[in-house]
Amino acid sequence: MRLILMGPPGAGKGTQAAYVADHFGIPAISTGDIFRANVSEGTPLGVEAKRYMDAGEYVPDEVTNLMVRNRIDEPDAEPGFLLDGYPRTLAQVEELDGMVEKTGHRIDAVLCLTVDKEAVVERLLKRAETDGRADDTEDVIRRRLEVYAEETEPLIKVYDDRGLVVEVDGMGAIDEVQQRIFEALDDIPQS
Ligand code: ADP
Repeated sequence: MRLILMGPPGAGKGTQAAYVADHFGIPAISTGDIFRANVSEGTPLGVEAKRYMDAGEYVPDEVTNLMVRNRIDEPDAEPGFLLDGYPRTLAQVEELDGMVEKTGHRIDAVLCLTVDKEAVVERLLKRAETDGRADDTEDVIRRRLEVYAEETEPLIKVYDDRGLVVEVDGMGAIDEVQQRIFEALDDIPQS
């Protein structure tokens, strides 16, 4: 099973990704988490990524693409994977196409979590109080939403034209959203 989870910042991608990946026995690959791990370890990748993340901007495609390519090449991703936070640009879509084609597989579905914009700002501000993520200040949150609308939202149409988009209402309790996702995924043929 090869899945992409899409949705604006604060849509609950990370939370849902863990459940879905667990259910299918595949790794959840979160580019945001990998970047944050590198930031806290102070690796060169982390130092580079931090400059962009703190401002709510996307890390350059070449950096992100190489990182995902290396991760997908690991043995645990051979039976499949769930991507959380990738692809976010058209160049990343094309890069991912190449990676998947090379292995003779295909993307099975693109799960899109839909949420109310003001509600996600509220969610993220609340998370800021507990998690202390450097990019959860109101200004940076608004910038992340803008960048998402400009660069990533148009990708939904790209995947929709391929018949891959499964839209799921991301508002409500975590277990309600989870149930909607599993119902939607039941209809997807697995490769
Ligand atoms: P969110 O979806 O809430 O913005 P993430 O944890 O997915 O949070 O991402 C945090 C930051 O990591 C992004 O704002 C961006 O700077 C960087 N990032 C994550 N994924 C990508 C990607 N695919 N391309 C470029 N930058 C990315």
